Amino acid sequence: MFSEKVEKRINEQINLEMWSANLYLSMSIHFDVHGYHGFATWMMKQYEEEMEHAMKLIKYIIDRGGTPVIGQINVVPTGYGEPLEIFEHALGHEKVVTKSIEELYELAIAEKDYATQQFLMWFIEEQVEEEATASGIVDRIKLAGKFLLSVDKECALRS
Ligand code: MG
Repeated sequence: MFSEKVEKRINEQINLEMWSANLYLSMSIHFDVHGYHGFATWMMKQYEEEMEHAMKLIKYIIDRGGTPVIGQINVVPTGYGEPLEIFEHALGHEKVVTKSIEELYELAIAEKDYATQQFLMWFIEEQVEEEATASGIVDRIKLAGKFLLSVDKECALRS
């Protein structure tokens, strides 16, 4: 059965996914403005994915005979720092989203909503991917930083 509690909670998830989309859009803009066009492209793709997540949830509520609600989307942060800091922020945010999906799944279990449990499996798997991807970029930026330091050391050897 599609309970009102589950419907309300999925609507909250739609809001979180749309907020995430805006977060990544603002990060993409930041990167573009500061000349990091590759990171900007990555973040723009991430923005599109978050909108796809929101659309999946919207379609699901409609399929279950409920009513998706597009509420107010809170303002996202501005004034970002260095690339490493931004990707660490993105990774931290994805962990928050994972927790939210898990709580939604727990509610679906409590409400004996088997269809929603099944539907949410895609999101649970997607979050593993989201965290792994963001974490991978954090690692690569850290490696790039180490490389920069090794170049610095090489330059120190100049006679
Ligand atoms: Mg998402």
